[in-house]
Amino acid sequence: MIACSVLASGSRGNSTYIRFQDHSFLIDCGLSCRALEGRLAAIGVDPASIEGIFLTHEHSDHIQSVHTFSRRFSAPIYTTEATYQAAGLAEKKHVGLIPIVSGKLFSPISGVDIFPCPVPHDAVDPVGFIFQYEDVRVSQVTDLGYVTELVACEAKGSRLLLVESNHDPQMLKMSQYPWELKQRIMGRRGHLSNQAAAELVKRAVTEQTEQVILTHLSEENNLPDIALMTTLQKLNGQVPVVTVASQREPTPLFTFGVTVSR
Ligand SMILES: [Zn+2]
Ligand SMILES: [Zn+2]
Repeated sequence: MIACSVLASGSRGNSTYIRFQDHSFLIDCGLSCRALEGRLAAIGVDPASIEGIFLTHEHSDHIQSVHTFSRRFSAPIYTTEATYQAAGLAEKKHVGLIPIVSGKLFSPISGVDIFPCPVPHDAVDPVGFIFQYEDVRVSQVTDLGYVTELVACEAKGSRLLLVESNHDPQMLKMSQYPWELKQRIMGRRGHLSNQAAAELVKRAVTEQTEQVILTHLSEENNLPDIALMTTLQKLNGQVPVVTVASQREPTPLFTFGVTVSR
């Protein structure tokens, strides 16, 4: 069984909770430690139960409390050597790094396979994560400028798919953002538009897929309804439930696969 909740999503902080049977982990720690503890409490999870943190990349909306949370709850950080350096963790002499290599499977606990999938984004060594436990696949791909073949192939058949649906290109073009920032967001190492997200969802959804969560929505250059509509139109009546993650509150804790009591 995999259980998952997006605790927070957007440019003011990102974190996802994921549990394999009774082993709990976080993906990114982009809120303050206190806020993360609050979000975990809201879904009934004790922060002391977190066994590790999977870090996608070094941008501040993903790492804000990673050092503090990791230390406070003795949860090691799984990330690449380059991201560890760029996130300032080496400088802080952070203990508890478990190095991973982009593109190479790792297993934090037996039976769980995790593929850190390289993604095009303006960070030193950014990855998405594809989790496989028993027959359940869960994918989280956020912070990427465009969808690579590898991302589309790896995400295919996910029971739960968490995909970045960052901006509406029209809203972004009209926004007050400086030209350079617009270029960065729209660029090949920026963020996925609603349309690009919808195309990825369309490619990745199979009859296995139960749930899609659109994540990392821009508060200035997007609206949840536009993001949702774009993906739903693309899916054209296909089955999975599609929802939008929020910056302000966690999604429900979704469960996939069979729960085995031990
Ligand atoms: Zn981000
Ligand atoms: Zn980023």
